[in-house]
Amino acid sequence: MPTTTDLRFVSTRRGAGIFSFVVSLPLWMMGGCADIPPGPDEDPLGFDEEELDEHWGAYDDVPLPKNLSTVGELVAQRNCSTAAAMGLSQQIAQEVACGNQALFENISDINNVDLGPAAAPFLQKEAARALRRAAARRPEERIVINSSWRSLVQQYILKEWEGSCGISVAARPGHSRHESGLSIDTNFGLASSMRAEGWSWVCDRTNGGQWQGCSDPPHWDFFTGADMRVESVRAFQRLWNKAHPEDRIGVDGVYGAQTAARIRRSPLSGFSAGITCREEPRVEQVPEEAPPEEAPPEEVPEPDAPQLDQDVAARAFIQDATGEDTGTSASIWRPTAALRACSAWSINEDFSSGSFNVHRYQVDLSVPGTTTVRFERRAGAWEPAVLVVDSRGRLVYGGDADGGNPDVEARAVASGQGAAIAELTVENNAPTRLFFFLTSWKQIDDRLSGRLPTTARYTFALSQQCEDGGTAYRGLDHDGLRVPRSGLSNATLRSALGVSVERYGDTIAYQGLSFVRGKVSWFGGPNDTGVTSQETGAITGERLRSLNSPTQPSTATLNSRPGDFYYIAMRWDYAPRGKDAWRAARLLVVNPTNNKAVVVRPVDWGPNINTRRVMDLSPQALRDLGLTTDQDALIAFVDAGTPLGIRQ
Ligand SMILES: [Zn+2]
Repeated sequence: MPTTTDLRFVSTRRGAGIFSFVVSLPLWMMGGCADIPPGPDEDPLGFDEEELDEHWGAYDDVPLPKNLSTVGELVAQRNCSTAAAMGLSQQIAQEVACGNQALFENISDINNVDLGPAAAPFLQKEAARALRRAAARRPEERIVINSSWRSLVQQYILKEWEGSCGISVAARPGHSRHESGLSIDTNFGLASSMRAEGWSWVCDRTNGGQWQGCSDPPHWDFFTGADMRVESVRAFQRLWNKAHPEDRIGVDGVYGAQTAARIRRSPLSGFSAGITCREEPRVEQVPEEAPPEEAPPEEVPEPDAPQLDQDVAARAFIQDATGEDTGTSASIWRPTAALRACSAWSINEDFSSGSFNVHRYQVDLSVPGTTTVRFERRAGAWEPAVLVVDSRGRLVYGGDADGGNPDVEARAVASGQGAAIAELTVENNAPTRLFFFLTSWKQIDDRLSGRLPTTARYTFALSQQCEDGGTAYRGLDHDGLRVPRSGLSNATLRSALGVSVERYGDTIAYQGLSFVRGKVSWFGGPNDTGVTSQETGAITGERLRSLNSPTQPSTATLNSRPGDFYYIAMRWDYAPRGKDAWRAARLLVVNPTNNKAVVVRPVDWGPNINTRRVMDLSPQALRDLGLTTDQDALIAFVDAGTPLGIRQ
């Protein structure tokens, strides 16, 4: 002893050569030994210490992305592998096993089963044994497992990456069967043997055994075993509390914003405080190549801890915001506030139906700014309370204090306790969707078990102030689109006119910002005899002669339908994101001789390159800018939500 054999763990992930590595496993391991009850010093997973190191040691060979220490940082880096979180995942598995010894069984020693770098080396016992039997039926076949048991943290990361990394849909953390150790994602090897041993392929159940069109072809389930999903959440909550006695959270097995916030701050390598069923601290495995001067993980300042009752209410709301059952008796009415960018909106409402104890307003803040939020009692005896969460269910405002949201800052002006008005400001630096939950403080104290008085009437008012009038400059390249300019290759120009490269439009600096400068003309409206009455804009399909009508609009007309009067044509390149992407774009056009500016929307393609002009504007835009045909204007992107019309 020890005689060793090599087991090659090879990832099937595209381009993941760095994830191929070799581990040596002692031969005595090959039979598995999970039936031996663990002694007091042994790992609660049921593997002894040496064996465990072999299982998990494999992951030490995965090069950790540089400068990553927390789950939040890995999420932000979006490198599409949860392997960097395996240290913490191992600890969660051990913690789950603290109260459930011999729950899991090793699968890393099965000769024709290969584990990918993010796959844990175990499953629940019955599932593991069925896999082992399936593999033994066809020793000449191989199966690659890319995901097996998953920790709450891995599921959290996958959910955060949903919509990218090839992840179309990921279960909410705490809700995936992988977290019980009863599911695997595979390359479909050993399929008939797997079926014969009781494993169930999701496409067999949902799509008549067809891979094509099946929602999740790699996924297999085993239906005998314990549902450990809540336990997995609890395990993380216990680990956090042991490591953070100053910031304890409820060990309720419920995944919500409180738990998510701690997951983000957790160390990828695991907590140095260790698991709860063993007293000695876990020995930190510091990679040898780690530079000694590397800074310790940054301490994230704690947000003001909300009061317990607020906490409960906020969690209920948060779950509602993400579409989950609230688990409370809150009865929520869900209107949408039609707040336009950099403007004000208000509504008078009441709780007279008696059916709802919460009114939840969806508010889209389409441009950066500071929004004043007022929830004012107008009738009835009750104290107004506001809670705010973002579209991912993360707390923004807890009723009287900032919720610690990383993207939106909230400031209390008045909590509403003992008063008629609850007021706050929220500050967003990017377009965002928020949910405002309006209720009474008594409802929050009663944990949303009652109703407001039916005499309760209120005004809910929003007012967004934007810097420089709501025009957020976005440069010459924005959202994958580029302002057409000299030297750019242009596939649309090539297909339309046979010219591959845009000839006109210099890039210049104006007031410290980059703009494209070029000659202008005008198009559209009743006086545009250059087009037929039926001719439509290439971007929007609108009839061009119907735009900019009347030709001398009143201010009220301009304000009520600015889209008809502020538009533009350029020689857009459709290639990057298609023609439709231009429809949502907004552009700022400036006359540099008088500093006048307008925001316009793309309607059509042109002008012809032979004109040597760069853009055609609406007659109203040209008039507002004080320009005439063949004079120079400057152009750049602004935020897609920027209001059309004159800018100062
Ligand atoms: Zn799966």
